[in-house]
Amino acid sequence: MKEPWRGISVVVDPVCGMNVDPKKTPYKTLYKGKIYYFCSQHCKRMFEENPELYLSRGPQIEM
Ligand SMILES: [Zn+2]
Repeated sequence: MKEPWRGISVVVDPVCGMNVDPKKTPYKTLYKGKIYYFCSQHCKRMFEENPELYLSRGPQIEM
């Protein structure tokens, strides 16, 4: 049983707010010198279309 919060850095998908393991996800993009990780191709594309929107408002969890 692994404890993801101990030692392993989990990042937040800036589009949907999901926790993403940077070592596992193939969806990532470089923006202004920082790497952002995503849970899906969909979120990656959304971010790349309008990165400033997601960086300024933060993740939105859509139900
Ligand atoms: Zn996502």
